[in-house]
Formats: sequence, structure tokens, C-alpha cells
Amino acid sequence: MTDVVLSESLAAARTRLADALNAAGRPIDAARLLAVSKTKPATMIREAWHLGQREFGENYVQEALDKQAELADLDPIVWHFIGPLQSNKTREVAEHFAWVHSVDREKIARRLNDQRPGALDPLDICLQVNISDEPSKSGVSLEALPTLAEAVQAMPRLHLRGLMAIPAPVEGLDAQRAPFARLREALEGLRERLPEAPLDTLSMGMSGDLEAAVLEGATLIRLGTAIFGERTARE
Ligand SMILES: *Cc1c(COP(=O)(O)O)cnc(C)c1O
Repeated sequence: MTDVVLSESLAAARTRLADALNAAGRPIDAARLLAVSKTKPATMIREAWHLGQREFGENYVQEALDKQAELADLDPIVWHFIGPLQSNKTREVAEHFAWVHSVDREKIARRLNDQRPGALDPLDICLQVNISDEPSKSGVSLEALPTLAEAVQAMPRLHLRGLMAIPAPVEGLDAQRAPFARLREALEGLRERLPEAPLDTLSMGMSGDLEAAVLEGATLIRLGTAIFGERTARE
């Protein structure tokens, strides 16, 4: 589906988010779209930027750096790293992104903190939680989350902004809401535990479950397919 008309798909995504917020009885500015542009060309990101989209999510470090170089003239633009992060890639992420959503262990957080350049603002962090408790999936367990959150909150070059999750795909609104509700409750728990942390972000909801996520308090919706069209297998 390379023939997606971006002006139409982005407008439809905005309407969908507005409708979901309205249905949830939440203010229109209570959540925003993160355009997930992995595997999509820089030209599409540029087009989305000219349509007013400012925040973009990428999963693969080298692919992201290439596109960032091509788009260096776009200002302002906010890059979010949302993919699995290995130790040997933390420096590039610390130097070239504003946000990381996929922090799930202290070692990675420590490296990001140590490698964040002094000239940049602290790196905004969401901790990824394995909310559906899938043994094979990345993400910190709910049990281990408070310890990790306290460690990250103590790191001066990181700002602990919230939580991220990618629940196992399920059908039906109620089934989709359940893991998002658990993530919301986990954030509420952390807010009580760490009142000084800027915990204002629930990064949850994708093209298939935006409505359920918004009903449970999502503030940042990571939308790929609904904006940029289907991805072919990893290019
Ligand atoms: C690819 C991806 C998305 C976007 O998924 P869509 O279903 O295409 O909207 C969101 N979050 C993460 C972490 C992703 O890897």
C-alpha cells in the first residue's frame, strides 16, 4: 500500500483520536499522536511534517539516523525511539533522540544517562512494561517496575515521564482495555511512590486498539499503519 494519501490518512487519524477522546469524556488535547515511521521513507516524514505532525517514532537505530540526517532542516521535530534497545546502540540513541519508550532494565538506563550529551535537555524516558506477562516479550514485569522506576528517577540526565506497553493483540474493546487499565494503575502507583517525578505519560495504543487505550487514559498514541499505510516485511 504505497499509494496512501498522507493528507487523508493523517486527517482521518486525527479525527479518530478526537472522536475517541470525546467518547471517553476527555479534553481534545489530553492525548496526541506519535507518527510511527519505521520502514517508511524520509520523504513521507517530510510530508507529514508539512501537514503539521511534529513527533515521530522509529524502531531501528541506523535507519533512524539516516532519516534524521536527511531531515535535519525540519525544525521543530521530536524523535522518539520506540524499538528494542541493545547496549551497543545506546550512545547513538542518547545523542540523537528526545525520547526513549523502550527502557526495561537499569543497565540500559544507566548507559543512556551517562551518554546523554550535556548540551541537550535530559532524555525523556518511558519504561516499557510487559503488561500481558508474555515470557518472550521485552518489558519490565509489574513486580520489578517500582525498583527500576526509582533507579531511573535518580539519574540526573533522564526524565522519567511514564510507561509504555505493547499488549498481546486481542479482539474486542473490553479485552483490549484490560491491559491498558493495568498500565494506568501502575502509573498511578508510581506517582504516589515518586511524587517528584514528571510522570505525565501513558504511551499506549496503536492502529488496532487506539479507542481502548484512549478510554484508559493514553496520552501518547503510537500510530504507524493508520497514518503511513501497511508496512511490507522489514525492508
Ligand atoms: C510499529 C510500532 C507501532 C505502530 O504500530 P501500528 O499497528 O502500525 O500502528 C507502535 N508501537 C511500537 C512499539 C511499534 O513497534
